[in-house]
Amino acid sequence: MQTKTCTECKEDFILEQVDLDFYQKIDVSIPKICPICRAKIRLYFRNEKILYNTTCAKSGHSIVSVFSPNKKDIVYSYDAWFSDDWDALDYGMDYDENRPFFDQLKELFDKVPKPALLHTRSVDSEYLNLAADNKNAYMIFESSNNEDATNCYWIQKCKDVADVSYSDSCELCVNCDNCFNCYRVTDSKSAHNCSDCDFLVDCRGLTNCIGCVNLYQGEYYILNQKYSKEEYYKEKEKLQLDSYEGRNIFKQRFNEFLNSQPQKYAEIVNCINSSGNYLKNMKNCTYTFHGYDAEECRYAEHVLRNAKECVDVSTAGLNAEVIFNSLNSGLDTAHQICAFACWSSTYAFYSGYCFNSNNVFGCFGLRKKEYCILNKQYSKEDYTKIKNHIIEELKTIGKWGEWFPKEMSFFGYNESSAMDQFPLSKDEALAQNFTWEDTERGVYGKETKTWNGLDVFSDQTVLGEIFACTETGKNYRFTEQEINLYKKLHYPLPRLHPDIRLEMRLQKRGKNMLSKRLTQDGKEVLSPIPQSDPRPILSDEEYKKRFL
Ligand SMILES: [Zn+2]
Repeated sequence: MQTKTCTECKEDFILEQVDLDFYQKIDVSIPKICPICRAKIRLYFRNEKILYNTTCAKSGHSIVSVFSPNKKDIVYSYDAWFSDDWDALDYGMDYDENRPFFDQLKELFDKVPKPALLHTRSVDSEYLNLAADNKNAYMIFESSNNEDATNCYWIQKCKDVADVSYSDSCELCVNCDNCFNCYRVTDSKSAHNCSDCDFLVDCRGLTNCIGCVNLYQGEYYILNQKYSKEEYYKEKEKLQLDSYEGRNIFKQRFNEFLNSQPQKYAEIVNCINSSGNYLKNMKNCTYTFHGYDAEECRYAEHVLRNAKECVDVSTAGLNAEVIFNSLNSGLDTAHQICAFACWSSTYAFYSGYCFNSNNVFGCFGLRKKEYCILNKQYSKEDYTKIKNHIIEELKTIGKWGEWFPKEMSFFGYNESSAMDQFPLSKDEALAQNFTWEDTERGVYGKETKTWNGLDVFSDQTVLGEIFACTETGKNYRFTEQEINLYKKLHYPLPRLHPDIRLEMRLQKRGKNMLSKRLTQDGKEVLSPIPQSDPRPILSDEEYKKRFL
């Protein structure tokens, strides 16, 4: 074990023996910055969901892109970028021993065209990024295999949903987070196998329940009180959850009840020797957030589906193995160090957007290539020689395995995923040598309809109407599938802009940080729940004893 002082935030951090062993195994320099700063700088390189209207540099068509129009990047539409009528190798550069490696890499990254968005095999869908196999989806990110989904983030196999995040196999759900196998559930967090319920937190197997917390198996409960079937429907009628006002009044009652109820120190289910939050079926994963079916991962978020030995990663899945300090490594990837969005690729180092490629070092935008350095093709022998030379050069300055320099990010801090986890003001971001995107987003003052007379959402036509968010004034519309969903669920029209709705759900999920806490039953645990949270925390054993 070693203690070091982070060169970014100046806080001390600990390198555990297991960390040192891993660095030795993959032969990288020992990090000079702490895990939190490492995640922050890495996430600064990913824009998942801030979209702009811009022009495809190849076809001249208007397109939607994660690159703002005022950036110098050459951006191609998805179809143009993935077509065969251009070749990223045409931008190849000879490696110059007399110039710093990162200067040369930045020059390459600046000139190779970039894909406006990354998504694949989607039908009748618009505004998607980092998404695959969706049908009739609108504004969904980091999601796949969904149908009729609007304004969603990190969802899988969901159908007819709006404002749902981090959920799997849900149908007819609105405003839910971390829900699994739910049907007709609204305004809920961490509900599994529930149907016809509203306002649940940490519940399993409920039917016809409203406002329940830590309740396992049951029917006709309101605020954890059991009712007869007749009484339940009578009470439900009184709550008027189909009206905006009724729902708001109940929400306040529910929040008071929720704050009085204990919670487990972290959402960790069926895991061995693991710490973090939102983990399921994990083994030896520490400081890991949002993961399932993975092992030996550390300082990781979003590691799933047979990910193994993924350390310092933000998103690694589907058989990703031995991945270090990388972003969005997926689909049978292995042995990546400092790579982003290199899918189905192995032995990728300091590279981005390389697909089905192996043995690529300092490359961008390659498809089905191997033995390339700075987008130039070499023989295996020459590739190995130059690669080893660059590694030695980086080792002498202690940067082999350190993430790209900040000035190489394509995005402003406020567009990047770092902003969700580590929000900064413009001044703070600039002081920390991040950039800021000043392009104004959103439309204001163009509303065509007010909220008057829309308390109970009936058959009034709102399709095509423009509304103003009651909090920010930002204009937004409802999609047809979204309106139909609200009608089916008798759910009042949300009066906040979809971005604010997501922000509120993310806030409730908490941050990817752990601190030592003492549970109400006297156990010391590593918990993501901040001291400011009014709900008492319980150890796993105590939680099971009380509620299961
Ligand atoms: Zn730090």
